[in-house]
Amino acid sequence: MTTKAQSYLHHFRNIGIAAHIDAGKTTTTERILYYTGRTHNIGEVHDGAATMDWMEQERERGITITAAATTAKWKRSGTDQEYVVNIIDTPGHVDFTIEVERSMRVLDGAVAVFDSSQGVEPQSETVWRQADRYGVPRIAFSNKMDKTGASFELVLNDIKERLGAVAAPIQYPMGAENEFKGIIDVVRQRAHFYTNDLGTDIEETDVPAEYLDKVAEIRAQLIEAAAEVDEDLMMKYLEGEEPTVEELVAAIRKGTIEKKIFPVLCGSALKNKGVQLLLDAVIDYLPSPLEVPAIKGKIEDSEDTQEFPADPEGKLAALAFKIMADPYVGRLTFVRIYSGTLQSGSYVYNATKEKRERVGRLLKMHANSREEVTELKAGELGAVIGLKDAGTGNTLIGDGDDKVLLESIDVPEPVIKL
Ligand code: GDP
Repeated sequence: MTTKAQSYLHHFRNIGIAAHIDAGKTTTTERILYYTGRTHNIGEVHDGAATMDWMEQERERGITITAAATTAKWKRSGTDQEYVVNIIDTPGHVDFTIEVERSMRVLDGAVAVFDSSQGVEPQSETVWRQADRYGVPRIAFSNKMDKTGASFELVLNDIKERLGAVAAPIQYPMGAENEFKGIIDVVRQRAHFYTNDLGTDIEETDVPAEYLDKVAEIRAQLIEAAAEVDEDLMMKYLEGEEPTVEELVAAIRKGTIEKKIFPVLCGSALKNKGVQLLLDAVIDYLPSPLEVPAIKGKIEDSEDTQEFPADPEGKLAALAFKIMADPYVGRLTFVRIYSGTLQSGSYVYNATKEKRERVGRLLKMHANSREEVTELKAGELGAVIGLKDAGTGNTLIGDGDDKVLLESIDVPEPVIKL
């Protein structure tokens, strides 16, 4: 049951993009920020060169990529519903460090990027295991489909064989390498052809005849995998009935959030192919803050814990997860608000440092702008100016509230597969 005050959270996705070095995390993130910022920040750009220049400038300024949490907006294709997508910077290619733990704690889902010419490399396996340890639902993006040696099947096989995970191919590429020209949405049985270099013009058609058999075969596997996690779908499946698109999406979503299946997509971030469909999949399959377990806090001097469900009207519970020095405003403390509402100019209690602190201004970081806001609500991420003592990993609660410390996610011992 969600209250009216919580309903905005259905349209929130807090995600990380995880990859091992060189798989294309930076390029994918940039393209996501480009597409999500297109109408909001730079207007409709029809001139490809201008757009690329803009991305280059952004890269030089480094704003987009270095913000610990960037707030973007995405209208789910084919609908009028706008979603807030917060992209949390996940440090790549580091082992089980506290840095990774902190970023994994503040995200609700992740996109794992693979290089489809390499499959699952040892380091991408490390990233995957980290997400497993922290119980992060994820979708996989088989990137670099334009590259020599690219193979979607290789990535699918490796996910099964090397990661031991149930890969759910929700897409199928049309062509590969120089011939990579589009993507088939296996769930909806529609083909998306890219008709310009920017990847902004997409022509949607029926599945071309030469792909019909392949798509039917993959779709059957997909339905079978989804039926395993959804009883209603299983009943239909056993009776030989076709599920509707909505039923299939709902079952895949359920399986993804339960971390039983992993939707696999494909594309080429460099060639702007597949990124918009990837954003749609983030909306369709990754959880909102209401669909992940509520964070727990340990009550001082007691064995008891307190849960903080995502609710703007609940008690304040926030976690500082990154401190950055900003040349203009000084110390920026990035926070995720789990519960309650953080107000600018208010006082909070830093339960870790046992200090009362004054919140100065609050910012939401966008790809190429900062927005000053008066409050950050449950489920939101942003930066606080003015906190003097808060360090990474500190718990912030309401001034005068009973002391609790947000727990780290219960991390099970890693299962080492021989
Ligand atoms: P990161 O280390 O994971 O952040 O990877 P980058 O995004 O920096 O990409 C590493 C290299 O791969 C760069 O030279 C990119 O231009 C290239 N790259 C990224 N995406 C693609 C892609 O879709 N196709 C091809 N051919 N190259 C790509």
